[in-house]
Amino acid sequence: MRKPTKTISGVTPLAVVIKPRKCPHGTCLYCPTLAVPQSYTPKSPAIMCAMLLNYDPHKQTLARLKAFQAMKHPTDKIELIIMGGTFPAYPKNYQYNFIKACYDAFNGKISKTLEQAKKLNEKAEHRCVALCIETRPDFCSKKDIEKMLEFGCTRVELGVQAPDDKIYKKVCRGHTVRDVIEATRRLKNAGFKIGYHIMPGLPGSNFKKDIRMFRELFLNSDFKPDQLKIYPTQVIKGAELERLYERGKYKPYTKEQLIKLIIEFKQIVPRYCRIMRVMREIPPDFLVAGTIRIDLRKVIHDKMEVLGLKCNCIRCREIGFALLKKKEIKKDLKLNKIEYKASKGKELFIEIINKDDIIFGLIRLRIPDKSEILLVRELHVYGPALKIGKRARGKAQHTGLGKWLMDEAEKIASEYSYKKIFIISGVGVREYYRKLGYKLEGHYMVKYLS
Ligand code: SF4
Repeated sequence: MRKPTKTISGVTPLAVVIKPRKCPHGTCLYCPTLAVPQSYTPKSPAIMCAMLLNYDPHKQTLARLKAFQAMKHPTDKIELIIMGGTFPAYPKNYQYNFIKACYDAFNGKISKTLEQAKKLNEKAEHRCVALCIETRPDFCSKKDIEKMLEFGCTRVELGVQAPDDKIYKKVCRGHTVRDVIEATRRLKNAGFKIGYHIMPGLPGSNFKKDIRMFRELFLNSDFKPDQLKIYPTQVIKGAELERLYERGKYKPYTKEQLIKLIIEFKQIVPRYCRIMRVMREIPPDFLVAGTIRIDLRKVIHDKMEVLGLKCNCIRCREIGFALLKKKEIKKDLKLNKIEYKASKGKELFIEIINKDDIIFGLIRLRIPDKSEILLVRELHVYGPALKIGKRARGKAQHTGLGKWLMDEAEKIASEYSYKKIFIISGVGVREYYRKLGYKLEGHYMVKYLS
């Protein structure tokens, strides 16, 4: 069945699963070990499809493309999502061949090298406009980051769960808060967009502590993620937590507690952050305890509306959702700038909004500490995915909003007397930046300002 929300943000997300492998640090207390990629269950749809295809990345990519086409989703602008665990922990060759195979599938042609495959993809029918890799905070070294850049990665999802060393110890995470802080800084300085996975309700936490930790994520400049996935702790078959639960030593939040907690979170989250997901879809056969409602987000939104509360996160303000709700869209657009300190650098978040605070596009700029460059970490024009170059009445993409935001970035660079702008760009967007006068230099699109 076609889910219109799938492509509501302008790009079609395509997930490809890596083969199962044990995490190098051991196993986290809440993570199931079930002969599929760690932390997943054999009944998750993406995993079932990957298993059928023997985790072959080329076949998975082709199968997903075919499925999207059958559901009439556009497939010219793809965000490739590598899921299934800590990708940078896999052998180098595996990583390289995996990514190349995905590009080859998009290109409809097998290239000799990854570089060649990326080059071909710049003008391919299915362009990879963004690439997301999941990792742990202790697998974000300079070398890991260099490799991610080489792959054409633009977004990294970090398993942060709960920034507290005592909790980390209790749940056997195998890394520290310091690792989170350093990974966040390194990734931001390399230009990546960063999403945190967080898990309220872990052993060692409680309602008040979860709210305190959530607040800390945005008050403490060492964190400040661009995106969040909120995965409340669930007791899953095959996880160590199941034994604690059976012995009466652990209890997950009830549905009512979760609703209350996430409403609190939503009132804290700043305008520059996007809540990507609330709740993880665990097949009922594998859920021992924890809430089963995968439409929790909708329940929360409805409740917030009744209470007259508003979530300021990017997703809740995107034009795509307003169009879905058939709201009247006012076209009086203006720029709204937010400046904040993060990970020892300065962030400038600029959004295009209308009078009703509906967001049409955004740009995320960073000035890393002690540097004289402006980094563009994200440029996004929101709206349903449209064919490259195609215009749609009343829709935001390709109506010059991206150019407006880029002009603003260049104006800011001039104000700071910076001579160079760097953009982290999916390989499928390089052509767009070339038209704006940018050239490929290393892994970035670069422009020298006079
Ligand atoms: S790091 Fe992630 S995949 Fe690995 S054991 Fe922990 S939760 Fe599971």
